[in-house]
Parts: sequence; C-alpha cells; structure tokens
Amino acid sequence: MEDRPNSTPSTLVRRTAFPDSVSRAVVTPLQPSVVYASPSPDALDAQYEGTAKGYTYAREGHPNAEVLASKIDMLEGAEGGLIVGSGMAAVAAVLMGLLKAGDHVVGGDQLYGRSLRMLTQDLPRFGINATFADPTDAEAMAAAIRPETRLILVEVVSNPTLRVADMEGIAALARDRGVLLMVDNTFTTPIGYKPFDHGADLVIHSVTKLLAGHSDVTLGYAAARNPEHRRAIYDFATTAGMTPSPYDCWMAERGLYTFPLRFGRAEANARALADHLAQLPGVETVIYPGRRDHPDHARARSLLGGRDGNMLSFVIGGGRAEANRMIEAVPQLAFAPTLGDVGTTVSHPASSSHRALTPGAREALGMTEGFFRVSVGIEEIDLLKADFSQALGAL
Ligand SMILES: *Cc1c(COP(=O)(O)O)cnc(C)c1O
Repeated sequence: MEDRPNSTPSTLVRRTAFPDSVSRAVVTPLQPSVVYASPSPDALDAQYEGTAKGYTYAREGHPNAEVLASKIDMLEGAEGGLIVGSGMAAVAAVLMGLLKAGDHVVGGDQLYGRSLRMLTQDLPRFGINATFADPTDAEAMAAAIRPETRLILVEVVSNPTLRVADMEGIAALARDRGVLLMVDNTFTTPIGYKPFDHGADLVIHSVTKLLAGHSDVTLGYAAARNPEHRRAIYDFATTAGMTPSPYDCWMAERGLYTFPLRFGRAEANARALADHLAQLPGVETVIYPGRRDHPDHARARSLLGGRDGNMLSFVIGGGRAEANRMIEAVPQLAFAPTLGDVGTTVSHPASSSHRALTPGAREALGMTEGFFRVSVGIEEIDLLKADFSQALGAL
C-alpha cells in the first residue's frame, strides 16, 4: 500500500499526551514510566549535571517516590530522604552506602531480626563487624565501642519486649566518640520520636508498617543529616537496584494521609486494651510503655511525650498447647507476624520472629511460649475487648 501524501501516518505505538484540562487532578498522578524523553542532548546533559531538574530512568528516581519521600521528610524533620523497595533495603542502603571493610558497628541487642542477621551474617563477609549491647543501658553501649566503631544502630522501642532505649545517653555517647547514630524509627514513628531533633545522623523506616498502614505495600525510607551521606546512600541504593515501585509509592502516599489519625486511634485502643488484658484471668503480664508497671515507664514518658504507641505485648501461662488454643479461639483476629496494619494483628515471637533463638535465649528475654505481641488497629475498642476476652476465655 502506498503512503497517502497528505496525511500524517499514525501508529498505535506512539504515546499520546494526556488531554488538556483547565481543571487539575486532585489526586497525585501515578507515573509508572521507566524512561523519560529529554528535549535535546544539551537538556539531558543539564539533567545529569544537576543544573536542570528532570527524570531519566526510574531506577535513578521517579516522581511518586519523590512525593512520598518529601512527605516522610516533613514528618521526620528531614531533607532529601530516599524511598527504597523495603525497610531492609533502607537498612542495607545506609550500612553499605556508608561503611567500609574494617569498620565496626555497635547495635542494640534486640534489633529487628533481619537487621541482626545483616550485621552478624552478611556484613562480616565484607569485613564489617558488629557487637551488640543493651540499648536501655548507655554504659553497656559505651563499653561496646572500639576505636574502629563507625556507627551505632538502635531502635527506640524494642520488639517485642517494648523496652525503651536510653536515647539521650546513646546520642551523647555517639557525639562524644564521633560515631554516627542511626535510628530505625519504624516502631516509634515520628509521632512518638523525631530522632533528628535528638542528635541522630541517620533515620530509616519500614514504610511497610505504620506509615503506609494497610499491609499492601513493601517500602523503606532512609534519611541522612549530612548531604554527603545522602549522596552515598543514594548512589549505593541506585547501583544495587533498591528502586521502589511507583505504584507502591502511590499507595503508600495514600495511606500516609491518614497516618496521624490511624496512629491516634490505634494508640487509644492500645491503652484501653492493655488495661483490659491486665484484668483478664490467665494473663500473667502486660507490657505497654504507657502503663505504670512498665519497667521503662518514666523514660517512655520523657522520651515519647506521652505517645505510647499501638504496640503491646502480654504473657499467658502454659506452653505451646495453650498458645495454640488461645489463637485458635479467635479466627477473626489476624494471627500474623507483622505490625502497623489498620486491623489488629497478633504475633507469637517464639514461632516466628524469634524462632532462631534457643528456648533458653528466648527465656532470658522473657519471651516464653506464652508471649504474644499485639499490633493494635483502629477497630471499635469494644470489639477488640470482646475478641481478647474470648481468646483468654479459651484457656
Ligand atoms: C519490618 C521492620 C523492618 C524491615 O522492613 P521491611 O519493609 O519488612 O523490609 C525493619 N525494622 C523494623 C523495626 C521493622 O519492624
């Protein structure tokens, strides 16, 4: 067939621009494009040089990640935070972006399981070693510091025993010894604690948890006070391919809008549920930083400003049989080893997050077969009280 001379050939393949509109979309557009077309080699040059703002290739950055990062930056009082594909990618991006062979890390002894694994199994293969100490005791942390210590990694509230770290003591230690302080702020969230206001150099989040809040995206966030650190973290994350999906970023942004509302409601529920559990027969201990009987209650008050959070733990008597019976009695409660969902989830560290520890090591941490952790959601509190009464009633 001959080309008709006076009409432009058309093809399905060439993308059409969005139709013009004098009104604008209220919702952030979802931009899945991996590649971006530049107007000219000069313009592309300017983008790479950083003199003109523009996207090139999604692994290097994309608008949905940037929108999400700027919102979490706002919560954390940070600048230039980076979104990566998971909370663990954020941990890895910071540690591998900043440390080198011969460096040493001091970690809290109850870090998230995979963070512990990275420090004990993976980084040593690259010549980076770690020592662990109790973060509720700044002197114990100080004793673990060596001349080659470059970084301290802590979580403010430990999982699942909910002990509160001596953040003031640890920040002073990091400052005095010239060591970087990295805080995994997933559990506490910036509503409870803003690490950058208290001397932290690096903050990471599992956005998967409370920030996104609906258990339908896996994402992480990493921020640094020092722009050179930011650059190093960005370069490593981009080279290692820790890119987040635009769709996940878009979903997380949507979730984040209600984060303060969800957090407030879940916290109020956690307070009420902790007190309810404490008077149920069969419950031996309730662990909640907002309760006066919590070992770190005073520190939680001063550090977290009364924001006690949505996480609580409790202990029942007996062994695995009783644990099974309690969980089986409430199929309507999600028995799942995660946290931060809009709905309440219950986890059992002995069979999940802490299964790699010996029973003796778990026992030493107070984590018996009867130990449960609850991530309290935003349901009606009467429903939650009834669910837990039913669970304990089965024993
Ligand atoms: C879940 C979690 C992580 C890891 O986050 P992912 O998004 O699952 O990779 C790290 N730290 C803490 C405290 C967590 O709870």
